[in-house]
Amino acid sequence: MAVLDPVPWDTQLRSAGLRATAPRRAVLRLLSAWGRPATHADVATALAPDSWDRATVYRNLCDLAEAGILTRSDMGDHVWRFELARPVTGTPDHPSAHPHFVCTTCGVVSCMPDLALPVEHVPAAVRSGRVEVRVHGVCDGCAA
Ligand SMILES: [Zn+2]
Ligand SMILES: [Zn+2]
Repeated sequence: MAVLDPVPWDTQLRSAGLRATAPRRAVLRLLSAWGRPATHADVATALAPDSWDRATVYRNLCDLAEAGILTRSDMGDHVWRFELARPVTGTPDHPSAHPHFVCTTCGVVSCMPDLALPVEHVPAAVRSGRVEVRVHGVCDGCAA
């Protein structure tokens, strides 16, 4: 089954000042299909059949993160995880950020629905929605 690109990657790449190269398209398509944060190792392994080496994949992940197309976060284990950047949503009084669920058993990270953040008496980063919220627990797969 063909995976359709939900957004025109080439347009997004060019407007960020990046050339639309095959590895960049492949990385974006993969992260879009997964819909969760992934490590460099996850992406490099998945793209290995396309014969891009790990260094190429890493460089492209960093380029995309620097251009703001991907976000890069450390979920507390000192490993960068990359995912497609989402626009900041919500209202000025309740900007939103989506929390991440981190399984304490298998380490898999998944995205949770947007959370509205109250803005009284909090740092400016919360007002802009640019904060990270992490929930730790045991995932359904490990709890079964
Ligand atoms: Zn788990
Ligand atoms: Zn996420």
